[in-house]
Amino acid sequence: MSLGSAGEKGSNITGDVSKYLIQGYLPTIGIECHVQLATKTKLFSAVDNDAREAEPNSKVSAIDYALPGMLPYLNREAVRLAARAALALNAEVARVSRFDRKHYFYPDLPKGYQISQMYQPTILSGHVDLPDGTTVRINHAHLEEDAGKLTHHGDHSEVDLNRAGTPLIEIVSEPDMHSAAQAKLFAQELWLLMTYAGVTHGDLYHGNMRFDVNVSVSKTDQLGTRSEVKNLNSFKSVERAVEYEIKRQIELLEKGQSIVQETRGWDDAKAKTTSQRSKENAQDYRYMPDPDIPPIILSEPEIKQMQADLPLLPTQYRAEFAALEVDSSVIGAVLSNPAAAQKLHQVLETSTPDIARRIANWFASAIPVDDENLSKFDLPSAANLIKLSDMTAAAQLSSTAAKEVFAAMLKHDTDPAQIAENKNLLQVSDSGEIAKIVAEVLAAPASQKAVADIKSGNDKAIGYLVGQVMKASKGQANPTLAQKLIRSKIG
Ligand code: MN
Repeated sequence: MSLGSAGEKGSNITGDVSKYLIQGYLPTIGIECHVQLATKTKLFSAVDNDAREAEPNSKVSAIDYALPGMLPYLNREAVRLAARAALALNAEVARVSRFDRKHYFYPDLPKGYQISQMYQPTILSGHVDLPDGTTVRINHAHLEEDAGKLTHHGDHSEVDLNRAGTPLIEIVSEPDMHSAAQAKLFAQELWLLMTYAGVTHGDLYHGNMRFDVNVSVSKTDQLGTRSEVKNLNSFKSVERAVEYEIKRQIELLEKGQSIVQETRGWDDAKAKTTSQRSKENAQDYRYMPDPDIPPIILSEPEIKQMQADLPLLPTQYRAEFAALEVDSSVIGAVLSNPAAAQKLHQVLETSTPDIARRIANWFASAIPVDDENLSKFDLPSAANLIKLSDMTAAAQLSSTAAKEVFAAMLKHDTDPAQIAENKNLLQVSDSGEIAKIVAEVLAAPASQKAVADIKSGNDKAIGYLVGQVMKASKGQANPTLAQKLIRSKIG
């Protein structure tokens, strides 16, 4: 829940949105995204922030248990990462920001309140430019702590507080998206920005980024009543949940029913949303300033210091890779793996766009773009990649063989020439050697019909002869060269 996201009912819709209409309804989507910060310790306690493989309740301190007398102490590294997130979001860092208590009673929150930022967030308004050319405004992003995790077992539930106190930033967008595809694109772009900026490890499987989507539909220039689907943890589920909500809401309105403002959950297996609870208002949370934590006061030089040496961001890589003149899906696949993008950047520093283009295409065909496969490979060195590209350009390898060598290099970075030789993939481009094979093929009785066909002008028959040469050379002849030699022999 945040102010700003998805807009309030009654706000105006502006701009040309006709292409997004479905059955005359304009869908409008705002997204809130919780990003787990890549700090060593929690937001307010000196406890390990990585609880992925840990025993339940083994990474918890008196602060996380909220024992009487505990006093939270702000982790400065979380503030530094927030400042870097601000840069990636084209946003200013507040010179003064403060923490507030957000009250609710639930077993995952021993204090009875979450420490968050309601009135003076650390990250002010900004924007994200999507690869489709649209811009999504960011209302703000605030620092807050995560709650614990509950596991329900019918008659009882288990509480694990390892996650309690994990530092998050919650990024709140304006309602600037109008399709499920755009919502997915925004989620992916946030993932890229936060991962490249080093703000988060971006491990979606372990919930490092969770998306809440606010969806409404309207036939007028005023926003309709919205529903919120919480805790989506993959790009695909963002897209599918938005698609489902748009359809559900239009169906209700077409039947003359109205939309209830509520929080809904997403059932991935059933591919549907279900009502969870009616939406809370801000006053239900009884926000109040947290007296335990002093305000964050930052000077301009301190902010600059925290933002120094930010690595290249996806937008910068996209601008650089435009020189390759490849399809945007190839660039998208490369960017989905930060290590691959970095490698391609290194390749471009020491070679040409032609060489880099081949390497980009190999990466794109080797990296599936699905959420689950964004994990890092141990990538080959730029030098070996350039060597493989050069070998392909010199026709020492066919394009199929090059892909096979590339795949082998992903497993163990070794000399591509060595791999090609071991796998017997080197293409024979020695014209003398191929000429010998061509002569044998042309002399064979089985070839005479094809030779006669070509002489009488049926050029299609050349395919058969090239095929025979490839077969005789065990696939190692350079087919272009073979064809050239066949033509010159037949005349
Ligand atoms: Mn939150």
